[in-house]
Parts: sequence; C-alpha cells; structure tokens
Amino acid sequence: SEVLLEDLDNVGPATAQKLKDAGFTTVEAIAVASPAELANSAEIGESTAAKIINAARQAADIGGFETGDLVLERRKLVGKLTTGCEEFDEMMGGGIESQSITEMYGEFGCGKTQVAHQLAVNVQLPPEQGGLGGSVVIIDTENTFRPERITQMVNGLSEKHGVEYDPEEFLKNIHVARAYNSNHQILLVDSASELANELKDSEMPVRLLIVDSLTAHFRAEYIGRGTLADRQQKLNKHLHGIQRFGDLFNSCVVVTNQVMSKPDAFFGDPTKPIGGHILGHTATFRLYIRKSKGDKRIVKLVDSPNLPDGEAIMSITTDGLGD
Ligand code: ADP
Ligand code: MG
Repeated sequence: SEVLLEDLDNVGPATAQKLKDAGFTTVEAIAVASPAELANSAEIGESTAAKIINAARQAADIGGFETGDLVLERRKLVGKLTTGCEEFDEMMGGGIESQSITEMYGEFGCGKTQVAHQLAVNVQLPPEQGGLGGSVVIIDTENTFRPERITQMVNGLSEKHGVEYDPEEFLKNIHVARAYNSNHQILLVDSASELANELKDSEMPVRLLIVDSLTAHFRAEYIGRGTLADRQQKLNKHLHGIQRFGDLFNSCVVVTNQVMSKPDAFFGDPTKPIGGHILGHTATFRLYIRKSKGDKRIVKLVDSPNLPDGEAIMSITTDGLGD
C-alpha cells in the first residue's frame, strides 16, 4: 500500500509496531481484518480497532461495492463551474466538475494561477450564471494569490453582466492559506475540511478547493532518485485526501502542476508533468495549458473519463478569462 500504518488515525508508533509484528504490515490487511482480531493483536480496545479499520478502509479505498443507481444519484449532484471562456466550458462538458480533481499543468507563466483566481470568483456566482453559489479554499504554496487580481476580475464580471458586484464581498468568500512545506500543505487539507464542515449549512458552503501549486514543495524537497518513491507515496496520499474532500463536500478540486521548459535529468521528459503517473491516475481531468499569440492561451483536455480530448482557446486579460 502507498499509505503507512502510522498515517492512520489512532495508530501511534507502538500500535503500528504491534500490528506489524502480528502480520498486519499493510493498510489493506487492516482494512479487511475484524475488530476482534485487530484488538487482540495490538492490545487495543475493540472500538479503537473498529476506528482503525474504518480509517484503513478509507485510506485503501476499498469501501466495498455500490450499486449503479447510487453512483448515479451522487453523480446527479455534480455541479459544473464556468471558466468564463465558452470554448473551455464546452470542452469540459459545461464547466469544471465537482467531485473530481482537475489538474492544470503547463510551463511557468502559462496562466494556471490566473485560471485559479477566475474560478475563485466564478464559484461564488449563482448556478444560473455558471457558478456554484459557494465559497473557495485556496492552498497557496507559491505565494501567488493576489486579492488585487480578484478585484480586477470581479470588476470584469460587473461589466460583462451589467451588474455592480462588490469585490470585497467576493474576497470575503475566499479562504487562503499559505503552505510552507509539503507536510504543512497536507495538513491544510484537514483544516480545509474543518472549515468546509463549519460552512456546510451556511449560505456559502465551500464548493471549490484549489491547491496552487500541488507539486512545487514536493519537487523542491525531494531531490535525488533515492527519494522518488517516498515523494510519490506522500503525493498519492495527499491526492486521496483531496479527492475525499471533493466527494464529501460535492466540491470542485483544482490543482496546478508546473512542467519544466528546460530538460531536467531527475524529472525526465520536460513535457511530462511533475508527479508522474500517480497524478495521472488520480486527476480525473487533465488540462495542458500553453501560451499562444498575445493574450491567448491554448487549453488542451488530455485525459477524461467521459469526454473526448479537445482543445480550446481562451484569453487572459485584465478583466479575467474570456473567449
Ligand atoms: P502560472 O501558470 O505560472 O501560474 P500565471 O497564472 O501566473 O502563470 O500567469 C501569468 C500571466 O498571466 C502573465 O504573464 C500575464 O500574461 C497574465 N496576467 C497576469 N495578470 C494579468 C493582468 N492583470 N492582466 C492581464 N494579464 C495578466
Ligand atoms: Mg502559478
């Protein structure tokens, strides 16, 4: 398993060791154990054992079977968030989907953070206007969140819709936290869940989680081939936490990932996003953004479970994203 026993709630180092000694060396093994079995092996109470088993089932992603009608029921709740660019929305089948991870990757300066800012504004609009009537949590790892840019985009929307939106009202629904390293980044997903829980029944429930950048800290901290597996394992766990957030709160999840313009021995092919295939399998929608003429950008849908691959042209202007 990619997840360590020690990562499970209620499992400290001593308990982890006892479990391993008893043959429960993986999270999967714990996920399919009975509470009594586990309680005996690790000398813990049965209720704690049950909690550990539940945590293991979540971490191992083996919650059991679900009938198609239930899946359909949950899918009916999927919201679509407008990007502000018609072609882009069409390519995505109406917009950025909730309950899914959407990854945007591309070179420095291609516009990933711009799209993130625009989505943080748009999510607050009512559904009739392409929003999800909700608030947003931003995990900012590169210190690139700019409230001034939000103000520009809100003013751009005011013009587009012929309404006087108040930028300050929009800023109040954007919850930003700086992540200082990859551990902190992972912890902030838990804080985001707490916040989303608090806001669940409010007028502005959290409907968008942005992690910008998902991979920068991981890339900086894990240098050298020897630690590649560690990095992927940690990134994988982080992504599962993020996916759970999306499912739990019917929230959109948008993450960014930078590709290098210069070939880099460690990270290999410069056109391949950092994070490698683990990110590839966890992100449901993958968007490759590249610069075009002037303010134009080409957004390519690289991978999707139910949409054809495609390309869209968007513009980034002072007013925000547009056609
Ligand atoms: P990254 O993919 O590295 O996150 P950014 O989203 O930061 O890239 O994109 C930066 C680019 O966005 C700038 O080079 C510029 O083209 C455009 N941009 C940023 N701010 C504005 C603005 N206020 N008005 C117009 N274009 C902007
Ligand atoms: Mg950026």
